[in-house]
Amino acid sequence: MTVVVAVLAAGALAAGAVSGRGPALEPSVHSVPTSATSADPATSGTPARPAPSGTPDPTAVPSFDRSAYSIDDPASLWLVVDKTRPLNPVDYTPTDLVDVPVPHIWPPKLRREASDAVVALFGAFTAETGLQLQSQSSYRSFSTQVDVYNQDVASNGQAFADTSTARPGTSEHQTGLAIDISALPGDCSLEACFGDTRHGMWLAQNAWRFGFLLRYPADKVPVTGYGYEPWHFRYIGFELATEMHDTGVTTLEEFFGLPAAPGYN
Ligand SMILES: [Zn+2]
Repeated sequence: MTVVVAVLAAGALAAGAVSGRGPALEPSVHSVPTSATSADPATSGTPARPAPSGTPDPTAVPSFDRSAYSIDDPASLWLVVDKTRPLNPVDYTPTDLVDVPVPHIWPPKLRREASDAVVALFGAFTAETGLQLQSQSSYRSFSTQVDVYNQDVASNGQAFADTSTARPGTSEHQTGLAIDISALPGDCSLEACFGDTRHGMWLAQNAWRFGFLLRYPADKVPVTGYGYEPWHFRYIGFELATEMHDTGVTTLEEFFGLPAAPGYN
């Protein structure tokens, strides 16, 4: 603080010297070092002025701005992709993918911010429960999603596949912001019963603290178009995750006032 005051004072004096004008003509310039000094107890011995008391101004409390970020840009943390909102471009590839340093079935990649959040989430889970999580699947490219979808269709038929695997270009996994999480060792991996494990229950309650959303809740199938997936978590950032948690809205479609996406157009 002392250094700052000295710099301010020097600057003000220099400004006055250059202009060649007296203090009476430039009260604002010369008031800078004076007020700064009086607010610094170390220099002046005068306590800093206390904050104003009274009722907080409600207009000073920032309200959540639902239009702060794009829900259309595939690189936005708030992107909403579902069966009616394909990625644009459909072969979008994130530019900041990194290896996620956590236990896994398949080597996981996510966008850097989401990766950091997964590491924090896994660490907190283990610290709070003594148990372990692993990544089942995370980033999948457009071409990988072609293979995954075609395999599901071949094994289970298209009608079923469309309730469990996104068509290429409509998967959250292609954004680098989604991860399928399972227990380590595996227990109900990629099955609805994962939601009843200690792992699944902890994730459902706590993922928001790390910026994640349980994207396909059991009671929102008509909205999301997907069956209950207690293992699939989408990174949306701490700010939005907290707002959705606090307001009790559980799908991105409902939060942003978008139409339900039960099927492909
Ligand atoms: Zn998934």
